[in-house]
Amino acid sequence: MRRISIFGATGSIGQNTIDLIARDRDAYAVVALTGGRNIAQLAKDARALRAQVAVTAHDDLLPELREALAGSGVQAAAGRAALIEAASRPADWVMSAIVGAAGLEPGLRALEQGATLALANKESMVCAGPLMLRTAQAHGAALLPVDSEHSAVFQALIGEDMAAVERVVITASGGAFRDWPLEDLARATPEQAATHPNWDMGQRITIDSASMFNKALEVIETREFFALDPEQIEVVVHPESMIHALVGFCDGALMAHVGPPDMRHAIGFALHHPQRRALPVERLDLVKLGRLTFREPCETRWPALRLAREVMQAGGLSGAIFNAAKEVALDQFIAGQIPFTRMAGVVEETLSCLSSHAGHNRDQFTLDMILQADHLARHTARDIGGRN
Ligand code: NDP
Repeated sequence: MRRISIFGATGSIGQNTIDLIARDRDAYAVVALTGGRNIAQLAKDARALRAQVAVTAHDDLLPELREALAGSGVQAAAGRAALIEAASRPADWVMSAIVGAAGLEPGLRALEQGATLALANKESMVCAGPLMLRTAQAHGAALLPVDSEHSAVFQALIGEDMAAVERVVITASGGAFRDWPLEDLARATPEQAATHPNWDMGQRITIDSASMFNKALEVIETREFFALDPEQIEVVVHPESMIHALVGFCDGALMAHVGPPDMRHAIGFALHHPQRRALPVERLDLVKLGRLTFREPCETRWPALRLAREVMQAGGLSGAIFNAAKEVALDQFIAGQIPFTRMAGVVEETLSCLSSHAGHNRDQFTLDMILQADHLARHTARDIGGRN
């Protein structure tokens, strides 16, 4: 039996992972399931999958979790230290699906155990790409992308020579406001932003899709995962979300990964890698699909894409600062403190205030340095956003 853990088990990616695991229950021994506030879901899944331990990130929810698990034999735990302890338990395969920079340290701990880490938490690569890769290498661990675009690139590269890669194109649906008049964006509400045309995802990533901060994170993640130059990475708006990414080679060939928007494909690919197994995802009917369309992304509508390029150019700790400022700006938008269109400004001004953290040798960053930059950026972004 493969020992598996799922960080962020109660979220959208976590639940899709559990859906796959539950179909082949006897193949897996579940070590740890972690969640945040959704105690009912966490306890239900921990019981059904007979997990060793269930952890909520919130100390105050421990009594509720204990009560929900009473008599089940599943250990209940809470708080950051418990999360890290659970991540340090040996496992063969770990899903990293906590949202935000909070997912970084648990993922690193899993790599230190030599686990295969299926990485949905793109923030880990944005904040700490070199550290993640170094840690995986030092401990003989494997790092597999779960973001649909990165899984697509990974699959298109199997058996290929990286030296023959000219470019990578990642697609973006354009999110909720793709076709809105620009002048209406300032009045967009969090509820409107959290409605995705194609994908069913958590609230935060859905709003990040509308602002394209999600794509901005993915551009940086692509660069980190596949060691590409920033100029080799292109973004194209593809409203149907059927092609997830394409890899262009030096002979002009362009290999595309095509499939319906269902995260169980990328999760299942990472779960069974290096094999391919049957997955319960819809098979694409090309004739029914008819046609696919593509557009150039407009940086006036989506300034986050320009900021991603600037972050890659700046280097140093800019990735961690960018992500932290984005998380704060998103919180402020969700709380109604700033308009949708102000988020990019908060992030840009934070990057500018902390520009002295750019340019250093990224390969030497430790977790402490990254967490300090994250902390400083949050503080700065709160100040900047609070002045509105
Ligand atoms: P969700 O918001 O649906 O789920 C997030 C999970 O993290 C939940 O289990 C939540 O607990 C938990 N959580 C939230 N805050 C914390 C915290 N501070 N500490 C510990 N746990 C926490 O997010 P998604 O599943 O949509 O996304 C998860 C990650 O995967 C993100 O990094 C996202 O960018 C990435 N991703 C998601 C895709 C998708 O289709 N959803 C596609 C590609 C990548 P609770 O809900 O119980 O409070």
